[in-house]
Amino acid sequence: MKILVLNSGSSSVKYQMFNAADEQVMAEGIVGKIGDAGAYLEHKAKGEKIRRDVIAMNHKEAFQVVIDVLVDKNVGVLGAVSEISAVGHRVVHGGDKFFASTVITDEVIDKIEECVSLSPLHNPPNLLVIKEAKKLLPGVPQVAVFDTAFHHAMPEKAYMYALPYEYYRDYKIRRYGFHGISHRYVSVRAAEIVQRPIEELKIITCHLGNGSSMAALDKGVSIDTSLGFTPLEGLIMGTRCGDLDPAITFFLSREVGLSIDEIDNLMNKKSGLLGISGVSNDVREITFQAHSGNKRCQLALEMCAYRIKKYIGAYITVLSSLDALVFTAGIGEKSPEMRSMVCKDMGALGIELDEKKNAEVMGIESIISSAESKVKVMVVPTNEEKIIAIDTLKLAEEEISRSEKGRT
Ligand code: ADP
Repeated sequence: MKILVLNSGSSSVKYQMFNAADEQVMAEGIVGKIGDAGAYLEHKAKGEKIRRDVIAMNHKEAFQVVIDVLVDKNVGVLGAVSEISAVGHRVVHGGDKFFASTVITDEVIDKIEECVSLSPLHNPPNLLVIKEAKKLLPGVPQVAVFDTAFHHAMPEKAYMYALPYEYYRDYKIRRYGFHGISHRYVSVRAAEIVQRPIEELKIITCHLGNGSSMAALDKGVSIDTSLGFTPLEGLIMGTRCGDLDPAITFFLSREVGLSIDEIDNLMNKKSGLLGISGVSNDVREITFQAHSGNKRCQLALEMCAYRIKKYIGAYITVLSSLDALVFTAGIGEKSPEMRSMVCKDMGALGIELDEKKNAEVMGIESIISSAESKVKVMVVPTNEEKIIAIDTLKLAEEEISRSEKGRT
């Protein structure tokens, strides 16, 4: 079975062609800057990487670019589009409607539409590409894998906000959590790496990318996570502020005179590492400048590590103990400095790095704690596409066998 995995963002469509027979990625790439005259395609297959300008004024055209390159005579990996057996879509927000991956029917599309108000930037491009894929690949099973679903088992006391209850009842204002596909992948891998059943483990996963979140996992189940109603709560991120006193919003409105849209933009696009450092949202650049003595860059890194530390402390108490602390995503995988700052002086909690090992690990699976550390600290590069492919394969096979039975 050949599975097309699609991850559609507001201005990009990332794709991977996955061959279930040998679990190999046949091709992967991205159509970026959708809607812009500078739209481009980056495509990797057969050991080669190409980049070319493309016309992709919308997600429909971007999806056509993906299909065209997959069947391209020179750089493609398919003889014909009909070789695609199933399509898996990453869908950001499943609200309280989806607790697991699901085959996409018209009813499922309607329900994902109902979640648009919860994720106005992410769900619309997901829906556009789902609809286009259904049109171009009729009869091919399509599966939605939700970023929120993994956190559905959070207890009420963890997902409720202390607003009057009717705001939860009437408007579904609650914590949902995101990056669930990544937290799920790295926790399963972590259990495999320590060679223990996940059902025996208490794990904290730190997904530290441009958007960041942490999760507390008991027996492989997410019981708390740092992102909330939207991907703004929790950790300090590239351009997002994370946790704040909510009264700052009133102050910015009443005293500073910002509109709601300006405050939204300020907190989502101009804050976080970028806002503090005044230099960049990229930890590489901030670390470089911090080493050159830039005080605001040093502060940005310290604040970021401090917030992660506080969440580790909180999650150890809700889990009551800890077996593994996992770092993933761009910063988690590739910034030994950030990992070191986070784990500093945590010996009392059983967390102790092997600093030499930590300094050597960049984007590869590895245990980076010392031999004495009670908690195994590890780096596990995330692979969301693999989880999407696995769920899609399972559900598509069930769907195909159901429709074959229906015919006999
Ligand atoms: P996204 O959330 O967009 O998927 P990623 O998980 O790719 O992001 O993480 C991107 C971030 O990772 C960058 O903004 C940068 O801060 C950080 N990063 C990437 N490479 C490195 C590196 N070599 N050293 C430190 N930080 C890095």
